[in-house]
Amino acid sequence: MQDAPGVVWFRRDLRLADNPAWDAATAAHRSVVACFVWEPALLDAASAHRRNQLFAHLRALDSTLRSLGGALVVRNGPAAAAIPALVESCGASAVYLNTDASPFSRARDIAVHAATEVPMHRFWGTVAHEPGAVLTQRGTLSQVFTPFFRGWQTTPRTPWPDGGNGRPVELSTDDIPKPSEPPRQAGGEKAAWERARRWLEDVDRYADDRDRPDLHGTSHLSADLKFGTISPRTLIDVVGESSTGRTAFVRQVAWRDWWAHMLAERPDLAPSPVRPEYSAMTWIDDRQGFDAWCRGQTGYPIVDAGMRQLVAEGWIHGRVRMLCASFLVKDLLIDWRKGEQFFRHHLIDADLAQNAGNWQWVAGTGPDAAPYFRIFNPTTQSMKFDPHGDYIRLWVPELASLAAPVIHDPWKGGGPAHGVKYPAPIVDHAAARLHTLAAYKTARSSLPAQGAS
Ligand SMILES: Cc1cc2nc3c(=O)[nH]c(=O)nc-3n(C[C@H](O)[C@H](O)[C@H](O)COP(=O)(O)OP(=O)(O)OC[C@H]3O[C@@H](n4cnc5c(N)ncnc54)[C@H](O)[C@@H]3O)c2cc1C
Repeated sequence: MQDAPGVVWFRRDLRLADNPAWDAATAAHRSVVACFVWEPALLDAASAHRRNQLFAHLRALDSTLRSLGGALVVRNGPAAAAIPALVESCGASAVYLNTDASPFSRARDIAVHAATEVPMHRFWGTVAHEPGAVLTQRGTLSQVFTPFFRGWQTTPRTPWPDGGNGRPVELSTDDIPKPSEPPRQAGGEKAAWERARRWLEDVDRYADDRDRPDLHGTSHLSADLKFGTISPRTLIDVVGESSTGRTAFVRQVAWRDWWAHMLAERPDLAPSPVRPEYSAMTWIDDRQGFDAWCRGQTGYPIVDAGMRQLVAEGWIHGRVRMLCASFLVKDLLIDWRKGEQFFRHHLIDADLAQNAGNWQWVAGTGPDAAPYFRIFNPTTQSMKFDPHGDYIRLWVPELASLAAPVIHDPWKGGGPAHGVKYPAPIVDHAAARLHTLAAYKTARSSLPAQGAS
């Protein structure tokens, strides 16, 4: 045990349980300084929903640390100045952190490492398997998810350290802001596990209900995984694979790892299509269309419901994310990167790897992506996954009086039924589909076919 304190720098791992950085520090040091650094670049990029959720988690972490006799020490960034200054002022002998695959985070770690004189111990407490741990026989990251998943299931996990008796200490610190409005979910790891426990009552139905935005068919744990109030390893272990619902759920958490591994391999996942032929795509600079999409005024009720929920709550059901994204890219032929940025700003669970990866999946530009010719019909998808129109009714109240199936396509037959005020569809899906197919084919012919499906 070292007498000099260790600094634990919290970032996307806002928990004490099953946190390798925290456990390693408490095992090696009698006292531990827990800190969080405000990064203006990250805070400015986040919607109020995400900031409020972050503040709620930080306040809860601080309160847990205070119950143990310490506190969360908050400092202003940039971290390359804040962390070395903290190390020096408290005489720490090491820094502990959980790393992340995003280019911002990697560059920040390099800068902090260069400016800090004590050792930095880095762990991967934000994913189940760290990037590079699940490889094909040729030693590469599989570009297809299913073989990756098979490897992910059988690869032994890198052991995480056991915790020790080191105690958190209190230092003078800035206040953590109060959320300006109640966060979407109660803050802290205890509340996160309460959510997970409730989810365990429903998880066996996941395989049947997961595509239904009108039901409580998914876990709503994405923001807890993003902020690290839940450890992905513990979550997977608690869920297990004893039913088809549980297996399907664990598979989704493995997708999360896959995209993190992909981002570690391809730091340009957000700005660049993985399939090079799509660099030649001719996207339409349709500002009115983009604006209608952002405001939930496209005239396609399921898309409008999703986009309104995104802005109002900072969260959307996964199937609806897919339909909103597909509409932007394949009905409006607007560059997926514009949508990715809009989602990334608003989503509470926004995560560069997950968001960019899924946008590339929808656009067909990514690895193992939806084929370019798969173009979701928003109306039939709506009928299938929100069969009674309950989800639409919740977010598009002007359609609330309409029954299914009219609610899915209120302009069918020439105008919104019963004088309802709702925009006419901004594109004709059938015509847009043909136009999009032609644009994709043109881009694909720009390069000799390169692993494209
Ligand atoms: C266009 C688009 C953008 C997205 N952006 C994000 C994002 O920024 N952050 C994010 O966490 N997820 C993102 N997703 C993935 C997915 O939609 C959400 O993780 C999921 O809907 C969150 O709800 P849940 O926790 O109830 O999920 P559940 O269905 O309960 O799934 C359990 C967990 O598995 C993971 N997961 C589920 N689906 C996916 C997926 N397709 N890819 C990666 N991980 C998945 C999530 O961590 C999720 O919490 C995006 C999907 C699309 C189509």
